[in-house]
Amino acid sequence: MTEQPPEPFAWRFCPICGKALAHDHDGQSAQPHCASCRRFYYLNPVPATCCFVARSDGALLFARRAVAPCKGRWCLPGGYLELGETAEEGALRELREETNLRASRVRLLGVSTHPSPVSGAVMVLGYVVEDWTGLGGMRPDTDASELRFFRLEERPALPFAVHRDLLALYDRENRGRG
Ligand SMILES: [Zn+2]
Repeated sequence: MTEQPPEPFAWRFCPICGKALAHDHDGQSAQPHCASCRRFYYLNPVPATCCFVARSDGALLFARRAVAPCKGRWCLPGGYLELGETAEEGALRELREETNLRASRVRLLGVSTHPSPVSGAVMVLGYVVEDWTGLGGMRPDTDASELRFFRLEERPALPFAVHRDLLALYDRENRGRG
């Protein structure tokens, strides 16, 4: 499955006052600007996280998506960051919400940025979860309909390029171990 390029979209109206925006120079480049609110609007990649949760035999945890896009496909657990939390807190929150697993320690594996048809572009920070517990109480919730640990040879194809990038990085890092 190939990823479609994002639909081009742009700010046209001020989300605060509703007036039409006009391009103005912000000191570096011309950007959509509301003259009434004296505010520029930008499109940026949206930060998200994903989690690598490995069993002692090396099998990795995947979550089947309960929501669009790619509903029904297996992915790494994770999601978008919320305002007011750090990336590490966001990764741990998503893990708790989707799996009911508990953890407090994550290690940054790497970062991947790709076009996204939903947000324009997404920037995903991949975290290795180092101290997870609660396997007996593991259950899918919120964005996940099913959870399963997959061994290397049985892993499903991932629909998101950001996850594929980070999984390849994870495998490179773990090659030769175990
Ligand atoms: Zn405005």
